[in-house]
Formats: sequence, C-alpha cells, structure tokens
Amino acid sequence: MKKRIPAIKGTKDILPQEAKIWQAVEAVVKRVCELYGYKEIRTPVFEATELFEKGTGETSDIVIKEMYTFTDKGGRSLTLRPEYTPSVVRAIIDHRLNLKPDPLRFYFMGPMFRYDKPQKGRYRQFHQLDVEVFAEQDPAVDAELVEMADFLLEELKVADTETLVNSVGCKKCRPSYITKLRTQAQKEKQELCEDCQRKVLTNPLRIFDCKVETCQDVAKKFPMITEHLCQECEEHFKQFCAYLEFFGLEYRIEPRLVRGIDYYTKTTFEIVSAKLGAQDAILGGGRYDDMMKEFGGPDICGIGFAMGLERLLSVIPKTEKKEPFLYLAYLGKKAKKTGMLLSQFLRRKGVECLMEYREKSLKSQMSRANKLGASWVLIVGEDEVKKGKYQLKNMTTGQQEEKTQEDILEVIQKAS
Ligand code: AMP
Repeated sequence: MKKRIPAIKGTKDILPQEAKIWQAVEAVVKRVCELYGYKEIRTPVFEATELFEKGTGETSDIVIKEMYTFTDKGGRSLTLRPEYTPSVVRAIIDHRLNLKPDPLRFYFMGPMFRYDKPQKGRYRQFHQLDVEVFAEQDPAVDAELVEMADFLLEELKVADTETLVNSVGCKKCRPSYITKLRTQAQKEKQELCEDCQRKVLTNPLRIFDCKVETCQDVAKKFPMITEHLCQECEEHFKQFCAYLEFFGLEYRIEPRLVRGIDYYTKTTFEIVSAKLGAQDAILGGGRYDDMMKEFGGPDICGIGFAMGLERLLSVIPKTEKKEPFLYLAYLGKKAKKTGMLLSQFLRRKGVECLMEYREKSLKSQMSRANKLGASWVLIVGEDEVKKGKYQLKNMTTGQQEEKTQEDILEVIQKAS
C-alpha cells in the first residue's frame, strides 16, 4: 500500500462548488471597494522577516508564536505574510506611490499564514480582504471605512452583526497609561496565565487579547485606555463616534478592544457576529499613524481593516444558483467530431458547454445530463450530421426541436 499524503493541518481545500461562492463574494467585494475609490494592489506572499517584526510588532502574538519563518537557500530570513498591512506600507515606500496623484486607497484579497492552533474559524492558511487608506488624518475617514464595511456586509446579506469601537491612544498618551496598567497587572500577576505573566513586563496591553477566561476577568478590573487619552486622541475619538452616528451606524464602545497588533494608534474597531462562536470577529482594523515613518518612509498616516473570508463565508446565507449550461450528447465517431466543432463554436460565443469523451449510449448520456442539471441537451447523431441540423432539448420544458448551429445559439442567448 502506498502512503497517502494528506493536506497540512489548518489548511483547507476549496472545492468547485464552494469556489463558486468564493467567486461571487469576491465579485461583490471588488465592486464595493471600487465604489469607495479603492484600487487593487498585489504584493508577494513572502517578505523579509524583519518587515513583520518591525511592523506587526515584536510583542504581538503573531510575531512571537505564529509566523511561518524560514531561511532560504541564500541564507535570508523570510516569512510567509501573516497579515497584509506591512506589505502595503513597504510597497508604497518602494514605489514612492505617495508622490503619484492617485489616492492612496488600496484593497487586496489573498492568503495569509499563521501558525495558530487550528479550530473552527482559525486556520493556518486563511484568506483576508485587506483595505487600507493613507494620508487621511480626518476621523471622517475612520467612520467612512466602518461605513464601507457595514455596506459590504449588507450587500452580502450578513445580518446580526455588532460594531465595536475604541481608541488605543498614541505615542504621547499611551506610555503613561501602560505604566499604570503594568502597576495594576503586577498586583494581579498570580491570577494571570503564564503567557500573560510575561506580558506584564513586555506589553501589558496584550493581556486584553488573551482568550483565557481568568485573564479576561482580571483584565476587566484594569484601568481603561479611554480614560487616559490625550486631548488630541480624545477629540479624534469623539469625532469618529459622531461621524458614525452621522452615517446612521450603530456601535458600542469597547474599551478593552486593543486588537492583537502593536502598531495601532487612536481608532480601533471590530465587527463581530454572534453566529461565529468563540472566534466572533468577522473583521478588525484600526489606525496606524506611525508605521510608514518607522519603516524609513514619509510621515504618512494610515488606517485599514482586514476581514477573514472563511469567517465571512460561514455567516453568508447560502443560495444555490446554477449557471445554465448545455450538455452535448453524441453517437458515433463522425458525430463526435461534429460535436467537438459545435462545442467550440458555442463556447466561443459564450455558451457554457460540456462534452464528455467516454462513448456511451444516448440513454446514459441523457441521464448524465439530467444528473448534472443541464439546461439543454444537444443531440448529435449520424443523421443530424448529414442534415446539418441537431436536436436541441430544453431540459426544463422537455421540448425538443431540430435546429441549425446558428438557431441553437439564438435560442440559448435569448433564454440567458
Ligand atoms: P487580524 O489580522 O488578526 O486583525 O484579523 C482580521 C480578521 O482576519 C479576523 O477578524 C478574522 O476574521 C480573520 N482571521 C485572523 N486570523 C485568522 C485565522 N487564523 N483563521 C481564519 N481567519 C482569521
């Protein structure tokens, strides 16, 4: 017996039927993003490890525990992207996109890689829609981004979601808050999990990300960042919330929403769905006003969000929509060749056409067409070949008519 080589844990095959749903979702995403002026950008799947260490942050769980890092044959340390933002920022700097007149609004859909514990809603290769806008300080853009996410979910018929918002302050106000937080966390250290005990020293803000129940209970008593914002951050947050209301959006302020990534400044937000269970965030994002500068680029602020496509797909109502197609049934060698040319003609005119090359009786070809859900069957036998007229059967009405190649095309185009 030969050994089977199964798929890697935490990865998932997207089979044809499901791929159809992905394509439909991707088309809606693309349309909505472009309505808001976003253009697609595509960057490589792997980057220098340093990019994520510096961008995502050395105290984030992603960098500490979850990166797929390897050394290539040239001795460079590379990492499969665990998230997208640092790659976009790098691309802007590399191509000096900020000097071009186009708005700095980008979107992308593709796979991300994290060595996470596989479970429902958590995979090691998963897909994200990533949306980023740069050089916009105004809190109106923070609200517009949430409004766009809300519209996208509405277009995809995702119901029962909740929008959570917060501000995580900036370089001016966060350090003194972190000091207070550390002092408090130090007092409760014995109650925290091993991981969080380490975070007390490295970055106590990350304790809020911990999923361990006892840590969450302890964190509830911690001082809240929203009460320690500097005037600029407080004003920004106030205006952001006011713009959300202006757009008619409902939201809840969640002072513990710090998100697992180190680079956020001011606004953070998440849209969650009760249908998702423990991993309830469909999307999350925030502002990162210092990243570009810290990567050696211009001093340009940014804000964006990432939406998990697997999670999104799991809350989208399923609708089965079959595309119409024609099954070409043939009898004999001559009919096979004519059938091949007829298929070629119809496909080139945009008609989906299936012809299978296993010689079968007409009866079994008809039953196969039925099983596959064909809209029409085109029957090509020796007589039909001689006449240049073929039997077109409408599988819904059962009606069968003799038609020329051009007539067949006309009938199908009219029906589609
Ligand atoms: P993050 O990049 O961690 O802010 O996550 C943004 C979104 O990506 C989350 O709200 C999830 O929908 C999705 N996501 C993050 N990690 C995973 C994962 N391991 N598997 C599946 N989806 C994920």
